[in-house]
Amino acid sequence: MLKLLLVLAVLVFGLMLWFGKGRQRSKPTPPPRHPPPTPAAPQAMLSCVRCGVHLPQSEAFLDDSGRAFCGAEHRRLGPRSGSAP
Ligand SMILES: [Zn+2]
Repeated sequence: MLKLLLVLAVLVFGLMLWFGKGRQRSKPTPPPRHPPPTPAAPQAMLSCVRCGVHLPQSEAFLDDSGRAFCGAEHRRLGPRSGSAP
């Protein structure tokens, strides 16, 4: 008799787990309230006229004539003299 009760309890417990999971799984996911954030627009890349390193326009150091430099030091030094590397 005790075995039968034990089997019944395990069976009921298993069914509760099964249907509990099934209910959660079948529940439709609510649609997101906010649309996903759009990725940032690509930035223009500039190359330092001193050393040639590429950097985003927002991080470039520009001189009076609009030439891009990677940093204040290269802006101070000015464009590389001579021909291409
Ligand atoms: Zn540079």
